[in-house]
Amino acid sequence: MNEQSRIIPNNLEAFWMPFSANRQFKQAPRMFVAAKDMHYTTADGRQVLDGTAGLWCVNAGHCRPKITEAIQAQAAELDYAPAFQMGHPKAFELASRLTTIAPAGLDHVFFTNSGSESVETALKIALAYHRAKGDGARFRLIGRERGYHGVNFGGISVGGIVGNRKMFGTLLTGVDHMRHTHDPERNGYSRGATEYGAELADDLLRIATLHDPSTIAAVIVEPVAGSTGVLPPPQGYLKRLREICDQHGILLIFDEVITGYGRMGTAFAADYFGVTPDIMITAKGLTNGVIPMGAVFVKDTIYEAFMSGPEHMIEFAHGYTYSGNPIAAAAGLATLETYREEGLFERAKALEPIWADAIHSLKGTRHVIDIRTIGLIGAIELEPLAGEPTKRAFSAFVRAFEDGLLIRTTGDIIALSPPLMISEAQIGEIVETLKPILDGLD
Ligand code: PMP
Repeated sequence: MNEQSRIIPNNLEAFWMPFSANRQFKQAPRMFVAAKDMHYTTADGRQVLDGTAGLWCVNAGHCRPKITEAIQAQAAELDYAPAFQMGHPKAFELASRLTTIAPAGLDHVFFTNSGSESVETALKIALAYHRAKGDGARFRLIGRERGYHGVNFGGISVGGIVGNRKMFGTLLTGVDHMRHTHDPERNGYSRGATEYGAELADDLLRIATLHDPSTIAAVIVEPVAGSTGVLPPPQGYLKRLREICDQHGILLIFDEVITGYGRMGTAFAADYFGVTPDIMITAKGLTNGVIPMGAVFVKDTIYEAFMSGPEHMIEFAHGYTYSGNPIAAAAGLATLETYREEGLFERAKALEPIWADAIHSLKGTRHVIDIRTIGLIGAIELEPLAGEPTKRAFSAFVRAFEDGLLIRTTGDIIALSPPLMISEAQIGEIVETLKPILDGLD
């Protein structure tokens, strides 16, 4: 083959992009070619401040040497080990280390490759757990409107984002949804957990009563709903869910794919809110987003129900070729080490009020109708352009990219979640970049 024939024309439709319309994208492609700490470099050589930690995952910042070196060393030493019936030390070491930062009692870790897979794993653990205890009548799963739990069938079934469900016809049966907790009338411009709405947790009781509580296996919520526009929970809401679950033998599952690994200024949102779930779903920040990996934490009683359950359940009939993959495990260990050495969770905690003041200073800016902050997460909600929902926020996203800032939009909401290494000056830069963009939008 000569050199010429190997050159493939730049076809921007060969890679079918996730959650993106290729036909639109190829009109004005946005490409990153490098990254370092808080910045991306674009294909045309511009620096872009990362206001979203990639997709809420690069919590330690980009291309951190310790993580890069650990991946390189592991790839050269043990690239892959079979995940079933075989082990390698780093997966066990990572699981052990994870249990030391997890809320007390969440002592066992099942590895996956993504948030979506962690969700499926958690739901299957919940269903199988009840069966292991001889309580197979518990088959119902309860999610929440506006909940995002990844894109696999279980996740979109318990999830509550209409657009992610309606393309696919029949979903999992035996699923019900609580109302979401977003109430801008009562909780506008909130910082931290919102003031009103704890009583919405009683939806769980209503739904459980409707079906008979002894048929409910689990309820799954994001402690702070992220992808649907950053909806912090009302004060006391998660505690109330915990109480109802305890009263009725329902498992409480927290999906901490976004809120885990320091995003809230604590290791997990469970710590921030003082509520421990029975199962905790994580991914993203576990490996700093660098290598795909997820981890599902379960409490001891769940693990024990399998280990001492009926013979056919001792081996959980579930797992992935890459569960606990050596390179992912090495990346996870180096990521945890980076968080610890640099005190990044504590840094996020110290920055929370500074972050909140900065983002809330955009109140009164043109088009802004609500602002919400919690941990190092922020949402700026814009009034939708008449007759053209999502267009205004998407224009803000495109202009911010041109002006050197990466933001994320969902509907007409701008979501922000920078790496935890962000400086106060860079927080200021986010606000100063956004203000004129918002002022200039149609
Ligand atoms: N759960 C939550 C709460 C998430 O935010 C996400 C991803 N944004 C997922 C699950 C799915 O994770 P992944 O894209 O890694 O499958």
